[in-house]
Amino acid sequence: MSSVKTDQYQHHDYYSIDDLLSEDHKLARDAVRNWVKKEVSPIIEDYSNRAECPYHLFKGLAEIGAFGPSIPAEYGGGGMDEMAYGIIMTELERGDSGIRSMASVQGSLVMYPIFKFGSEEQKRKYLPKLGSGEFIGCFGLTEPDHGSNPAGMITNIKEDGDSYILNGAKMWITNSPVADIAVVWAKDEQGIIRGLVVEKGMPGFTAPEIHGKWSLRASITGELVFQDVRVPKSNVLPNVQGLKGPLSCLSKARYGIAWGAIGAALDCYDSALRYSKERIQFGKPLGQFQLTQKKLAEMITEITKAQLLAWRLGSLANQGLATPAQISMAKRNNVAMALEVAREARQIHGGMGITNEYPIMRHMMNLETVLTYEGTHDIHLLITGMDITGLNAFS
Ligand SMILES: Cc1cc2nc3c(=O)[nH]c(=O)nc-3n(C[C@H](O)[C@H](O)[C@H](O)COP(=O)(O)OP(=O)(O)OC[C@H]3O[C@@H](n4cnc5c(N)ncnc54)[C@H](O)[C@@H]3O)c2cc1C
Repeated sequence: MSSVKTDQYQHHDYYSIDDLLSEDHKLARDAVRNWVKKEVSPIIEDYSNRAECPYHLFKGLAEIGAFGPSIPAEYGGGGMDEMAYGIIMTELERGDSGIRSMASVQGSLVMYPIFKFGSEEQKRKYLPKLGSGEFIGCFGLTEPDHGSNPAGMITNIKEDGDSYILNGAKMWITNSPVADIAVVWAKDEQGIIRGLVVEKGMPGFTAPEIHGKWSLRASITGELVFQDVRVPKSNVLPNVQGLKGPLSCLSKARYGIAWGAIGAALDCYDSALRYSKERIQFGKPLGQFQLTQKKLAEMITEITKAQLLAWRLGSLANQGLATPAQISMAKRNNVAMALEVAREARQIHGGMGITNEYPIMRHMMNLETVLTYEGTHDIHLLITGMDITGLNAFS
């Protein structure tokens, strides 16, 4: 059941992007790569097969600095730059998109909004525990009837003395059944979207698991159900109002996905390249046939283009210049690229490609979620379309 891995990541850096990285970036990359090889790769097929989340990895993810790599260290983050954040996501997703999702949600969707929009008291209360993996967090934006259109959300809060009374439901929430806290987006009585921290154990709050996923099977997903949940006013994030709150978190997470998907693609490419040299048909290794070379050459070409896009996006992000539309383009392109690479790699493996002897089908199925969550493939296209035409085709 072990997936084929290589120690030499040959041809993974075709355009020598390594030369553009700092020593700190390389150290972070190597630490995460080694952690994934040791802790994730040996167990991930088994956990995915059983549709079970390897919760024990939360602590390890915290130790390697995967939660909020670019959030300041004094608030529980890694204190690194945006490039390091991206590199870490690539290495995690080489292991599994579900493991990368655990880190993305914790860092970009839970720690980031508390860091960016929370009071000093909220930051001190939650961030160190989230950064150390003592607390698991989740992010509730999507609703059963409002996915691509979160502005239509019906989850709401009504003022009652020192509290708000929260009602509604969220759907498809990564980590929700095991989360200690949830950052939830809800409309107030004026119809303005507010962010609040809902804690496990608050009466009226439940988080049932969603079963039956064929994708991200090693990541736990659930609902958030609120029935007259009394949330103290001190749990409302004071420094943001409106859809820009959740959307800025999504930009942060989508940035990480643009980098992360490259990792899944590299793992598929790596496996296919090795298989093409080992598997003999018609008296020759598969890699000697032109059609196999075409597949492999196109795979590494597309991976390299995605790496350059991510690297440039990282440079812009480090200067605070990466726009949401630029992030959308990179997320859309790189995830679609990874899915295509997974499909081509599956073909190179022939029948063996459908088994869990190789990581291909797991990555491919995972990437179907990655293509859809954090804004679907088509929604990101519409964001680019709106950016270049100035015309809104959403509604
Ligand atoms: C495993 C998993 C984990 C997730 N984790 C989280 C999480 O932690 N927190 C969270 O809040 N959400 C999470 N999501 C939800 C995810 O972000 C949504 O599934 C996604 O935004 C799409 O919403 P939807 O599924 O309701 O699809 P819909 O919005 O119903 O879209 C269905 C299809 O219609 C298309 N479509 C919709 N509107 C338009 C339009 N205007 N023009 C053209 N096409 C359109 C879409 O592109 C898509 O192809 C997760 C989802 C999954 C599957």
